[in-house]
Amino acid sequence: MPDQWIYLNGEFVTKENAKVSVYDHGFLYGDGIFEGIRVYSGNIFRMEEHMDRLYRSAKSIMLAIPHSQEELTSLIAETVERNGLEDAYIRVVVSRGVGDLGLDPYKCKEANVVIIVEPLAIFPKELYEQGLEIVTVATRRNRPDVLSPKVKSLNYLNNVLVKIEAHLANVSEALMLNDQGYVAEGSADNIFIIKGNTFYTPPGYIGALEGITRSAVMDIAEGLGYKLKEEPFTRHDVYTADEVFLTGTAAEVIAVVKVDGRVIGDGVPGFHTKTILEEFRKRVVSEGVKVYSQSAEPNVS
Ligand code: PMP
Repeated sequence: MPDQWIYLNGEFVTKENAKVSVYDHGFLYGDGIFEGIRVYSGNIFRMEEHMDRLYRSAKSIMLAIPHSQEELTSLIAETVERNGLEDAYIRVVVSRGVGDLGLDPYKCKEANVVIIVEPLAIFPKELYEQGLEIVTVATRRNRPDVLSPKVKSLNYLNNVLVKIEAHLANVSEALMLNDQGYVAEGSADNIFIIKGNTFYTPPGYIGALEGITRSAVMDIAEGLGYKLKEEPFTRHDVYTADEVFLTGTAAEVIAVVKVDGRVIGDGVPGFHTKTILEEFRKRVVSEGVKVYSQSAEPNVS
């Protein structure tokens, strides 16, 4: 097995050597941000959108990323190349860095920047053919006025609790409602429902991450002539939809065929969902951008 190279603060290190301090505030307090990006056939999909979201998250929590957006883009591309992977998942993590045991982020001198590239298959292939069974869980989505879900922060406890509830219910994914009982999103994916010729997805203010796959799917659906509505909906609307699917960088587009015991449509991935997935898989290759590293020359240790 060739070594896996991880970018860590200016160096490329092996997985065994990729270590950060226990005083890192990302570890102590979940103080930091991250992105999940994907490379398809050597092309990084919607790189600029991911970078924009990362830098918006950083701005929101006043975290200084010690690289320009262009530099970080090059470093990500270089990490992909060094690992020789054409199809992979990229995780970019920027934590507040090493401080003391107090909360004070101003005591953290420099952010820790980590880039990990790995092959990824989140759900087994059969599930894309069969569709997922999901349940609604008791854990509510963070209220946007308390901890904005638009910030892709290292504080994912809300989502982790959803995953625990999914496991307890013997399913692989679950649905979160917001504090008012409207459908928000999955543990790490956005939701769409289809009725007739119309796609519905909850608007950002409901309390969901503004997913980049969600936005790609909206572009595809509009391009194919579907109607698109960003409006709040309830579990009843999900139960009675013709089709339901989830979207995310890791999950891509995956059909949901059962929600809280209610069979959706015919209980198999529907025509429109399959059409979107097919088009999505074409786009990720054709739209992706090959970005070569230009600026950084980190040492390999
Ligand atoms: N919601 C949450 C909470 C997520 O963590 C993710 C994954 N990043 C998504 C939605 C989907 O977003 P994207 O399509 O940008 O991966």
